[in-house]
Amino acid sequence: MDTTVYDALVVGTGAAGLFAALCIPTDQRVLMITKDQIEKSDSYLAQGGICMLKDAEDFDLFFEDTLRAGRYENRKESVKVMIEESPEIISELLGYHVDFDRKEDGSFSFTREGGHSTYRILHHQDVTGKEITSRLIEAAKQRENITILEYATMIDLLEKDNCCYGILMEHEGKCSKVYASATILATGGMGGLFRYSTNFRHITGDSFAIALRHGIQLEHLEYIQIHPTTLYSKAPGRSFLISESVRGEGAILLNPQKERFVDELLPRDVVTEAIKKEMDRFHSDHVYLSLEKIDIEEIRTHFPNILERCLEEGIDIETTPIPVKPAQHYLMGGIMTDVYGQTSMKQLFAVGETACNGVHGANRLASNSLLESLVFAKRAAGIIAGQNANRQSEGSQNAENQDLSGDVISLDWDESSFDKEAWKKENRRLIMQEIKRKDEAFYDQWCNDEA
Ligand SMILES: Cc1cc2nc3c(=O)[nH]c(=O)nc-3n(C[C@H](O)[C@H](O)[C@H](O)COP(=O)(O)OP(=O)(O)OC[C@H]3O[C@@H](n4cnc5c(N)ncnc54)[C@H](O)[C@@H]3O)c2cc1C
Repeated sequence: MDTTVYDALVVGTGAAGLFAALCIPTDQRVLMITKDQIEKSDSYLAQGGICMLKDAEDFDLFFEDTLRAGRYENRKESVKVMIEESPEIISELLGYHVDFDRKEDGSFSFTREGGHSTYRILHHQDVTGKEITSRLIEAAKQRENITILEYATMIDLLEKDNCCYGILMEHEGKCSKVYASATILATGGMGGLFRYSTNFRHITGDSFAIALRHGIQLEHLEYIQIHPTTLYSKAPGRSFLISESVRGEGAILLNPQKERFVDELLPRDVVTEAIKKEMDRFHSDHVYLSLEKIDIEEIRTHFPNILERCLEEGIDIETTPIPVKPAQHYLMGGIMTDVYGQTSMKQLFAVGETACNGVHGANRLASNSLLESLVFAKRAAGIIAGQNANRQSEGSQNAENQDLSGDVISLDWDESSFDKEAWKKENRRLIMQEIKRKDEAFYDQWCNDEA
């Protein structure tokens, strides 16, 4: 049994979890766990890019674009923090050797996506998430204070008097308690619960079910983004995303009669609605995305991953429109936090897609989520690092000095008989019940299919 009390326990190895771990000072012990292989995170899949404030003059427009996409339900303080801190975050990424596409003169080659008034998105071809995440993984693996455990699943929290002391974890078929002074939930969204989603199948919103069991405050679990354009395919598994930057570079949407029917650069929810309408009108399960207006050289250099994946499905995107359909993509809501990732439970933090700090409001502006994940992960790590440093200087420890014999776990479990399938089923039921309670119309339209 691991009796270590970690200074920070990070659940999830996507961009948010990795960046949080890397922002904890090297004299503090960090454990990172992930349900699957370290690379299997939605962060790794991000195609389009990451926004940044490219100059001070763009602040007001960037702020307004984010608010307009979010239907003005965003928390303004969070949006301000995200935009203001973006240049610093990008410069830290460059410090981890993240490579963004540049023009011939060496300056950044910014791209644009729906809802953006200007070009302000950094990208690495169409595999930006892989570039960022793999560099952060390399850095985390080199840190002696960070231990990474793969195929380990958080199944519950250790709680006493609304304070978190770590988690209950399942690893190689065994359940055990892991203690930590601070716990960071960075478990991503909930796409794995949906039949059609761009997310990895194992990203199933476990933190939300756990939060519901413990009475941790959630916000807008029903604010779920449906991405308008994923590759239409009859093959099972994850839906392959056709990034919004393809539309940003000039691709157009066509109905089954090959007529254009919407301004492709409107926010995602508006474009999704227009596609749904055309699909209903023509009794079709897809529409088309044509790249005929994009230069072939641009297709090959900017979208090699999409080009290759579509070719595997027998579609040459240089000559043939891509059949596309909407699919679940992103959760704007989540575990409610302040601008430091602090949740309603003491010593429990949430960052990345798991958290709802209000940046996205009712709808996310494209390419704001990687940025948001990194900005608020760093802020949460800052608070935790400060708390740990104070404790070290006072010579006291957190969980080690507490009587935790009565810590609260909301599940019935014993090491030999934890029923993982029943746990997953119950998690899904709890989350879907909450979505239905908040927005029955959305639930009926998108959540009825079993994953
Ligand atoms: C196809 C695709 C393209 C995208 N493109 C962009 C883009 O271009 N720009 C942009 O800004 N955003 C994009 N996004 C969104 C963005 O990638 C994510 O919102 C963001 O990366 C979330 O990062 P995260 O670290 O919060 O979670 P994730 O990267 O999803 O990581 C979640 C981690 O939690 C682990 N985990 C989950 N549950 C448990 C558990 N119970 N126990 C242990 N571990 C657990 C998982 O294994 C994983 O390691 C895209 C998303 C997808 C799916």
